[in-house]
Amino acid sequence: MTYDYLIVGAGLFGATFAQQAREAGRRVLVIDKRPVIGGNIRTEKVEGIDVHLHGPHIFHTKSPRVWEFVNRFATFNHFVNRPKVCYRGQLFSFPINLFTLYQMWGTKTPAEAEARLQRERVPCETPRNLEDWILSQVGREIYETFIQGYTTKQWKMDPKELPSSIIRRLPIRLTFDDNYFADPYQGIPVDGYTALTERLLEGIEVRTGVDYLADRAELDKLAPRIVYTGRIDEFFDLRFGELPYRTLSFRQDVYEQSDHQGNAIINYTEADIPHTRRVEHKHFAMMGETKCTVVTTETPGTWHKNATPYYPINTAENDQRYKQYREVVDHERFLIGGRLGEYRYYDMDQTIASALAAWKREVEKPAIAAKPSRPRV
Ligand code: FAD
Repeated sequence: MTYDYLIVGAGLFGATFAQQAREAGRRVLVIDKRPVIGGNIRTEKVEGIDVHLHGPHIFHTKSPRVWEFVNRFATFNHFVNRPKVCYRGQLFSFPINLFTLYQMWGTKTPAEAEARLQRERVPCETPRNLEDWILSQVGREIYETFIQGYTTKQWKMDPKELPSSIIRRLPIRLTFDDNYFADPYQGIPVDGYTALTERLLEGIEVRTGVDYLADRAELDKLAPRIVYTGRIDEFFDLRFGELPYRTLSFRQDVYEQSDHQGNAIINYTEADIPHTRRVEHKHFAMMGETKCTVVTTETPGTWHKNATPYYPINTAENDQRYKQYREVVDHERFLIGGRLGEYRYYDMDQTIASALAAWKREVEKPAIAAKPSRPRV
């Protein structure tokens, strides 16, 4: 066999794993069915501006180890994510903080805001769904302004049918801190994410436009060990049924002006505006005056078999189906990882942590890779 590892997928998981294997002296081939590398973190220059093609990507982590690792392959700027919300033509600071509450109610101090929240909260002893939970935390007005329409558009479901776990990580602060991520490390690679991926894959043979599933018998002959980062249900030819995803569409507009919306991300939270957010990419790169600017409008779509999979829908039923797939993996021959392989939403730092952990297990137990566990970052 020509290689030690065939890695299916040149996204962040595949590229990180490939980098580790190469650094340890293994012969590696990476393939991807897309014509380009990077997977969902890919950026491309449009009018000199790095455009995040598959949704805005802000790198953030609590893990010094992951931060140190990723900084070997990219220099990060000091971008901090401070999104805004537009609701019925009014703009609000977001995530919900003291300034948001001032904009809503005129409360000026943590004590005033807390007193108002006390009056707004709808008590609920055992919140059974997202709506119950958020009403019990912040009351109806905040729920309707920031959560109800946005969540309904995102999930195409009534918030009463969704678990509160989806929203529980949304910060609600009684300070003026509007930094979305409470992580000590945050930023955007100054050369874009594609350059980061290229550096991870430096010195490694990469073939793009190659679909593993279309030619697996031949491709399997190339290496004894295969790292697969595509959809696990497709790997098994949907044997136990499909694992569905939320999908998105992106419309890109170039404006002949230096700045269009004054911020990287503005969320649109009304139910009757179809898009969920507009993203102005130059702000991620912290660029000053430019001759034009690129704005992407992101709209949730309806899942169908040829749609691009973005967010897994981790209902109990889907997770049970995923388990069925996981149980029939031949772990000696295949390592199935990444967000599609594990049917999990992973932030980039979790993806990297997961790939580093997978490589560590690989070195420690060459023959049998353990079941993936949620990566510690
Ligand atoms: P992918 O990037 O999907 O890579 C998998 C690769 O496998 C793809 O290139 C695919 O073409 C290839 N492939 C699949 N099947 C085959 C096949 N049969 N043959 C050959 N190749 C195949 N994380 C953050 O930390 N911050 C953010 O702000 C953030 N924003 C996000 C916004 C959106 C809209 C989404 C969906 C995710 C966001 N993420 C963010 C998460 C981030 O995108 C993931 O952590 C990361 O992309 C996962 O990398 P991966 O390699 O597992 O998957």
